[in-house]
Amino acid sequence: MFCVKKVFTFDAAHNLTKYKGKCEKLHGHTYKLEIKVCGDLNDEEMVLDFSDLSTIVEEEIISKLDHSYINDIIPQPTAEMIAKWIWDKLSNRFRTERYKLQEVTVWETPTSCAIYFE
Ligand SMILES: [Zn+2]
Repeated sequence: MFCVKKVFTFDAAHNLTKYKGKCEKLHGHTYKLEIKVCGDLNDEEMVLDFSDLSTIVEEEIISKLDHSYINDIIPQPTAEMIAKWIWDKLSNRFRTERYKLQEVTVWETPTSCAIYFE
């Protein structure tokens, strides 16, 4: 099987309401997002054109989350719940006979990420 992956970033604010600690107060992160799609190759020997992958992620995710207060969209915006929300938005967009969404990774800091897959 082949996989393609693309990396995006967005800036957003959040605070964790059901949590005691640093992330309880309002603050921001530059999130890094990795989208991985796996499947078989097409006639052009690609899983999926990187620019098509980009267009869908920009449209469905980056346009909504960049410079947002994520709590308005996701009630308890941990990296885990952001990854799940992104999965739910994208899984239908990347589901064909030939390929499907494999994994969503949300990096909250350069050393901490959450991964969602089914
Ligand atoms: Zn935080």
